[in-house]
Amino acid sequence: MGILGGGQLGRMFTIAARTMGYKVVVLDPDFASPAGQMADVHLQADYTDHGALRQLGAACAAVTTEFENVPAASLIELAKHCRVSPGAQCVAIAQDRSHEKSWLAQNGFATAPFALVYSEGDLDAGLADTGTPAILKVARFGYDGKGQARVNTREEARAAFREFGEQPCVLEGFVKLEREVSVVLARDDAGECALFPVAENRHENGILDVSIVPARVPDSLARQARDMARDIAGKLGYVGVMAVEFFVADGRLMVNEIAPRPHNSGHYTLDACVTDQFEQQVRVLCGLPLGDTRLLSPVAMVNILGDRWHDGGPHWDALLAHPNVKLHLYGKETARPGRKMGHFNVLDADVEAALQLAEQMRGAL
Ligand code: AMP
Repeated sequence: MGILGGGQLGRMFTIAARTMGYKVVVLDPDFASPAGQMADVHLQADYTDHGALRQLGAACAAVTTEFENVPAASLIELAKHCRVSPGAQCVAIAQDRSHEKSWLAQNGFATAPFALVYSEGDLDAGLADTGTPAILKVARFGYDGKGQARVNTREEARAAFREFGEQPCVLEGFVKLEREVSVVLARDDAGECALFPVAENRHENGILDVSIVPARVPDSLARQARDMARDIAGKLGYVGVMAVEFFVADGRLMVNEIAPRPHNSGHYTLDACVTDQFEQQVRVLCGLPLGDTRLLSPVAMVNILGDRWHDGGPHWDALLAHPNVKLHLYGKETARPGRKMGHFNVLDADVEAALQLAEQMRGAL
């Protein structure tokens, strides 16, 4: 099996694939990539390198990806040689916020009010649609809150647009969030869908901080989130693992983003579900039956960022000594503020207890 991208998601996919007896080739330009360390073969090359893509396609029965910024053209090229999932069209929609938002609106899925911005001239009409405050987001290559600016006035919107190099953007109305939730699912060739339980997500500075499962929302809202995620996957004709992130405002759901891959908010599945999201990715890619997504225990997942690597790094003792806690580290050689270095899952009798213990464990780091 092959994977484009060698970050932590690729690493956990590679571990799952090898656990099931498959051999894995990782394509990633970084010699120290987290997934490359786990792979049978690490092709250290650019994602557009024709020779490397040919090699990957020839060596693998099936190829997937772990990040949405993989060039759609590379997926098309690979598909000439082997099975590729998800398909290039789905990735092309998810990797560009303007395509994504337009697709969602055209297909009747609620989003925050938005406007597409291609030039400064679009900002005034855009602000009239979204109101203020609003968030200007670059259409491509933004992640974890990067390439986003909160704007209160026309002047601020113009300044942010210029700062982003006048590249295509999406302007979004600022939503008063009650909560954020997400759904990870897998959809196979036959259109069969397996949905994981709904996660409730807390972000810090635009980066996921904590996920708790089951989400503390009414059953009807959780059901609606799963139905919407299933509908989105169905309408996209999606094959593979994907995540849908939602805002909850005034008790209603709005779709924030689609991720064409496993998702950080699905890391809880590693320790709390019968099948985890990475095994599910292997299963879909290989045409195997989808695994059981049942939740075995309430859980809180906490991200560990590079910010904690000052003064010799985190103190793991308390975390490792606790029977309810599981630590996952990604093998990254250098820590930087905001960089995802690992996460831990806390299992407990209910989500409140798990959340409380998670905060305590974080404090002990
Ligand atoms: P994104 O990269 O678009 O998922 O944004 C990162 C985080 O910023 C989200 O998870 C929210 O916490 C916050 N955010 C993004 N867009 C909005 C919005 N339109 N209104 C309120 N908060 C937002």
